[in-house]
Amino acid sequence: MPENDIRNSDFDEETLDPESWDEVRELGHRMVDDMVAYLSEVRDRPVWQPIPGDVKAYFEEPLPQEPRNSSEVYNEFLEFIQPYPMGNIHPRFWGWVIGTGTATGMFAEMLAAGMNPNVGGGDHIANYVEAQVIQWFIEVFGFPPSSSGLLVSGGSMANIVGLTVARNTKAGFDIRSEGVHHSHTPLTIYGSTETHNSVQKAVELLGLGNKAFRRIPVNDSFQIDIEKLEAVIAEDRAEGLQPICIIGNAGTVNTGAVDDLDALADISSRENLWYHVDGAFGSLAALSPELRQLVVGLERADSLAFDLHKWMYMPFEIGCALVREEEAHRNSFSLSADYLEHNERGVGAGTRWFSDYGVQLSRGFRALKAWMSIKEYGIRKYGRLIKQNVEQAAYLSELIDTSDNLERLAPTSLNIVCFRFVADGVDEFLLNGINREILLRLHESGVAVPSYTTLKGKYALRVAITNHRSQRGDFDILVDEVKKIGHAIIEEKKLA
Ligand SMILES: *Cc1c(COP(=O)(O)O)cnc(C)c1O
Repeated sequence: MPENDIRNSDFDEETLDPESWDEVRELGHRMVDDMVAYLSEVRDRPVWQPIPGDVKAYFEEPLPQEPRNSSEVYNEFLEFIQPYPMGNIHPRFWGWVIGTGTATGMFAEMLAAGMNPNVGGGDHIANYVEAQVIQWFIEVFGFPPSSSGLLVSGGSMANIVGLTVARNTKAGFDIRSEGVHHSHTPLTIYGSTETHNSVQKAVELLGLGNKAFRRIPVNDSFQIDIEKLEAVIAEDRAEGLQPICIIGNAGTVNTGAVDDLDALADISSRENLWYHVDGAFGSLAALSPELRQLVVGLERADSLAFDLHKWMYMPFEIGCALVREEEAHRNSFSLSADYLEHNERGVGAGTRWFSDYGVQLSRGFRALKAWMSIKEYGIRKYGRLIKQNVEQAAYLSELIDTSDNLERLAPTSLNIVCFRFVADGVDEFLLNGINREILLRLHESGVAVPSYTTLKGKYALRVAITNHRSQRGDFDILVDEVKKIGHAIIEEKKLA
């Protein structure tokens, strides 16, 4: 036995380690078997089911005081938690824009939590894994190799990172030190009315105020109106405002529209504005050689926000911010503190500390699931799956366009299809109510989960396909079910 083995100490000290590692191993194997079955049999279950009242009540029990056996706690998971998922791992879940997850992603999360490093910085391997993942995306999007990046919780945080760098770089004064109130000239940011509301959160958090986000109207394809944008920037300058940034959308959340990203890059450089692209899911179209031209201009952005938990199907949470100028990025977040001084040797060494590039100091090892997934599947397979989802959206659009009683409500430019049930002689107001009811019955039946939006006053069923498990037949089922429910409601309401 080694000299420093103290395992048989006389002190009665506690730990969270198990008394029996063999029992833990056994329980762990059961968990693996259960979750692999859960994933492989997902198609046989309802997409979603309502949570019974007694199950909800279970989550009001008082604070546990004393230890219990780990397998008992796990049994509670099996009974009260596992059967009531959101449903997004199911092949017929197309609500909002939510990814599907993978078995590899699940296991990578376990491995990352087992190693449990803090990826705020230092000379340990997780930092190199994250740096490599970022470098891969720099290559994917055609950013210069000297660009910087950060893995974050998702698109919302990536937008905050990009827009913080935009604000700090273009304010024209030391905003980190002086604060936004230093200048009496309001700083303004431009994007279309279809921009995701995480951008509003970002401008509010950045102290610019919601009014500083100038919402520009869109054309019939839901893309930003370029002429209008130029006019508003000119008007704002004439009124003494200080434009700092244009936001381009690569895939809007309502309809999947992609702005003219090249035109926006031109305007940004002519007007000396920061160019941020919110490409939460749509930017990933760049992975498919056939779709890449849809997002041309993206590579000219100063900063790009995108998600890996949507169209790269990785488990929540993981998104990424890329910034063209590493120095601008670092200058927005780095601080020097004695207790964080970067050493030359030891664990405290390492040149790039991710805590210098974002809000968080302590950071999890989310890079591992990205690294393992990309290695296993290869980037081309992602491109094919993305294209497959886009083709499925086109297939669904075709089904709708050739069906009686269905109407499409927006052009299908990428992976999002907006449509509704219609019937002769039923007015707009009633149609909105009927389609809302169709959606709820679809969810409650467990057959499919689309979400909803309102387009030009019309309530729309909205199908956003970021699902590697969906097959064409799933869309046939959706269309049949919507028509069936729609006709049943018409019948009940005696509208026919
Ligand atoms: C989902 C989404 C976001 C927000 O990303 P999260 O990962 O949910 O934080 C931002 N923009 C667009 C276009 C999105 O679709």
